[in-house]
Amino acid sequence: MKIFNRLATISVASAIVAGTVFGSAQPTYASGGGQASNQNDEVSYMGNTKNPKNVIFLVGDGMGPSYNSAYRYFADNPETKEMDKTAFDDYLVGNQRTNPDDHKENVTDSAAGATAFSSGHKTYNGAIGVDGNKKDTKTVLEQAKENGKSTGLVSTAELTDATPAAYAAHVDDRDKKDEIAKQFYNDKINGQHKVDVLLGGGAEYFGKENGNLTNKFKKDGYDIVKNKSQMQNSNSKQILGLFADNDMPLQIDAPKQNPKLVDMTDTAVNKLKQNDKGFFLMVEGASIDKSGHPNDVTGVMSEMQGFEKAFDHAMQYAKENPDTLVVATADHSTGGLSIAKGKDYVWNPDAIHSMKHSGSYMTKQIASGKDAAKVIKDGYGFDIKQNQIDKINKEAKKLKDLDEDDKKYEDQLQKLQDAVQKPINDKSNTGWTTNGHTGEDVNTYAFGPGSERFRGNIDNTDNAKNIFDFFKNDQSS
Ligand SMILES: [Zn+2]
Repeated sequence: MKIFNRLATISVASAIVAGTVFGSAQPTYASGGGQASNQNDEVSYMGNTKNPKNVIFLVGDGMGPSYNSAYRYFADNPETKEMDKTAFDDYLVGNQRTNPDDHKENVTDSAAGATAFSSGHKTYNGAIGVDGNKKDTKTVLEQAKENGKSTGLVSTAELTDATPAAYAAHVDDRDKKDEIAKQFYNDKINGQHKVDVLLGGGAEYFGKENGNLTNKFKKDGYDIVKNKSQMQNSNSKQILGLFADNDMPLQIDAPKQNPKLVDMTDTAVNKLKQNDKGFFLMVEGASIDKSGHPNDVTGVMSEMQGFEKAFDHAMQYAKENPDTLVVATADHSTGGLSIAKGKDYVWNPDAIHSMKHSGSYMTKQIASGKDAAKVIKDGYGFDIKQNQIDKINKEAKKLKDLDEDDKKYEDQLQKLQDAVQKPINDKSNTGWTTNGHTGEDVNTYAFGPGSERFRGNIDNTDNAKNIFDFFKNDQSS
């Protein structure tokens, strides 16, 4: 008991571990901690089964468990002997299964994963808000709107990309992005637009070529913003922020006027919290996955950092507003990231810290015809051997000889990116096994009323099932 009390005051995560190791009845000390403490005591929320009024659901796309561990090495202060915790660590409550219900594939994509999160239905890869029979599945965002709450979707990807799309659109194929954007505008609940706050990339799908959706949203009272200062000066409760034609640039490569994920999260919460009935907000760190696919460790760390800041910001709001539940998880892992490769028991994040640009950024520059040696010199924080520059030039030349529509183009682009990234993957000693997704269970972090429902090994559909339950028993609406 002595041990248990000491641990319970340290952190939520330690308390869970203690419960597992010593076999104590978890609810006893979770609620015990609550009785003995004031509202600032983190442990008091663990046993809180009350319904949250507000839910902030954060998705680190592709953020498998090795991403969380690698990021801990990366974020560690080297001046201190012990490895520092990340903002996530104290709120680990368990993990979750991610497999889709697909007749060919048993490793999920982001569409099936997001549909599980948004609606509680297992479905096939590529499905957006529809089940295996292509029937629409009701989402927690739609339920929130029915309850009179405010709603928001924030992503570093296109807003029409799989994860945000699966909360407010229903199409049988994730590539139908024009249709997804149209549904964001056209589909209404109680005469109102489904989503009050839309912040991310994907301007391409909201312009003239797709029914002038931006203008239509504007006529209906949405502020339309294109950069950080416009976003922060917006006074409307409803907003459409489109900060890139397609995906937003990675944080490490982005111009200053671009909002970061934490800035978008802050704006979203400030607008949504004005509704007395509460809100539902989904925040996606999309480019963790988009960097994992091409095995870009610099991009992955840049986006993990951005996601951690957004999570931390949401947590601060939840600590000041005890009616708010925060859940953070991933839809799957990507790339088979491994912390060390080969014979050495060493992973070297310092090399990644020295980088000035992501591998994806440098690859794009070289593919567009810029001088490889200069791009590498400007992007790398350490010297690259001439034979590696020669190899990059060789792959760039092969790419140049291909037409962009050629089937081999994407493969060759990845070969160029592999050559561009070899020095940093080698110097940091980072391993990768695939350019696709992998099927391991992913971590779940949760805090606030209802967070205990996310404990242990749960299924990805349980996220939606829990949130539906909260909204069904909602006293605030
Ligand atoms: Zn992916």
